[in-house]
Amino acid sequence: MKLVRYISTKRKLAVIGSGPSAFYTILNLLKEKPNDFEIDMFEKNPSPFGLVRYGVAPDHPEVKNCINRFNDIKEFLNNGTFKYFGNTPISTKNSILNLNDLYKNYNLILFAYGSSIPNLPINFKNLNHFGIIDSFSLVNWYNNNSNFKNLNLPFEKIKNLSIIGNGNVSIDITRLLLNNNLNYLKNTDISENILNKLTKSDIKNINIIARRGILESKFSNKELRELLEMDEKFGIYFTGYNLNDFKDQLNDIKLDRINKRRISLLNKYMEKFQNLKDKSKIRKTWNLQYLKDPIGVKIKDNELLSETIFKENKLIKNVENNNWEIKSTNKLISIPNDFLILSTGYKNQPLLDFENFNIPFKNNKIENINGKIIGVKNSYCVGWISNGSNGNINDSLIDSINTSNSIINDLNNDDTNFVEKKGRIEIQDKLLKNRAKIITWNDWIKIHELEKSNGEKLGKPYEKLDFNEMIDYVN
Ligand SMILES: Cc1cc2nc3c(=O)[nH]c(=O)nc-3n(C[C@H](O)[C@H](O)[C@H](O)COP(=O)(O)OP(=O)(O)OC[C@H]3O[C@@H](n4cnc5c(N)ncnc54)[C@H](O)[C@@H]3O)c2cc1C
Repeated sequence: MKLVRYISTKRKLAVIGSGPSAFYTILNLLKEKPNDFEIDMFEKNPSPFGLVRYGVAPDHPEVKNCINRFNDIKEFLNNGTFKYFGNTPISTKNSILNLNDLYKNYNLILFAYGSSIPNLPINFKNLNHFGIIDSFSLVNWYNNNSNFKNLNLPFEKIKNLSIIGNGNVSIDITRLLLNNNLNYLKNTDISENILNKLTKSDIKNINIIARRGILESKFSNKELRELLEMDEKFGIYFTGYNLNDFKDQLNDIKLDRINKRRISLLNKYMEKFQNLKDKSKIRKTWNLQYLKDPIGVKIKDNELLSETIFKENKLIKNVENNNWEIKSTNKLISIPNDFLILSTGYKNQPLLDFENFNIPFKNNKIENINGKIIGVKNSYCVGWISNGSNGNINDSLIDSINTSNSIINDLNNDDTNFVEKKGRIEIQDKLLKNRAKIITWNDWIKIHELEKSNGEKLGKPYEKLDFNEMIDYVN
């Protein structure tokens, strides 16, 4: 009898990362072609969902509803179309698997591993003092990412705090640090240990400081309004911004819709504060500062600062082209503060072995056209690693459509030069030989069930487990 070898024509796809961009892309692919892929997702943490779990603020639960959509992946578990490898980093310092393993065993690779480090201002002195922290670490800490649990922040001693950078992350931080009362936070997914620390903090004022002008503010009006509206209910007041710096510019130009709304909101609440008769209502304050380039800090003691020093910028109208431009001056100014948060964004990094595969990494992203990596066959990218740490979850959704379309186009044109690869068989073998503690999707479901039942006792949606607790629980 002649033996017929079964050849699977399914494309074996390895996905690095399990954030929104990865999930949206694979769900698009499976919706379009449910029988054409075998997908393995590799996530360095035991738990999935990237910044939705360790970035989005705990008091914004509605943003995390996208997880309901990601959980649709369960439909593809039983027939082996999808497999999750949690606690399985790719091409990091101590990882068992690297890109060589993936290129050898998969037809297609999707890079969706997001940002891995903070983007810090250059030319800034004393970065290593305990009185300075980057927003990347702080956000991971308040979201109970185990890798940041040893951050010992002297919150009880801080009264006046500055944040450099004025994006939505700075607004999130301001909201959480000022509105740190138990009633506001206790029903969120913020962990008990963080809650204990946060509620003891007694920060009275936050300065949000930016290098450029008011029209270049990075926060959205939605986040701004939420913070402004905390005045009467929570006693958290916006004290204002340096209006005089912008009067001429604002009189001179026609504002777009977003800026018009932004300025009108800021002016309304600034006036409201100035006209407030009963000052006893003010529990805490925050303000916006513009046109200040940070250059260093003055230190008070081992834990705290006394001030942050800036070079002042000036807004000048260029008479040749009528544009308003920001020019640096030599004037130094200082803002008193006990503590400083550098919230100047997140940054991407190439994986350790990118050079071996000629993967082009430039300008903080993998170079690509519609998610297809330039010059490297069968390789795609999506989300923050493909667009330079920018955008919200909705942008990831749009991005994922471009990337999944590119994959499907290539598949339809057979651009992928199909050859059968071993996929997960060989990968699992290597992981097991190296005693890896892989977290499967079913493990994750069990872990999250425990998180939910622990949370229920505390009146919360769930109480996050530590990475080690997760691994111990399912092993
Ligand atoms: C502090 C903060 C708050 C935010 N709040 C909001 C909000 O309220 N609303 C909103 O719409 N958007 C918000 N965003 C933006 C949103 O989180 C991003 O748009 C989105 O998460 C980007 O998705 P991603 O899949 O590209 O990356 P990520 O979500 O970062 O996912 C990448 C995943 O890859 C994993 N990974 C990294 N390296 C490796 C490796 N070597 N091997 C295996 N896995 C790896 C990571 O652990 C992570 O799970 C926020 C962002 C931040 C930083």
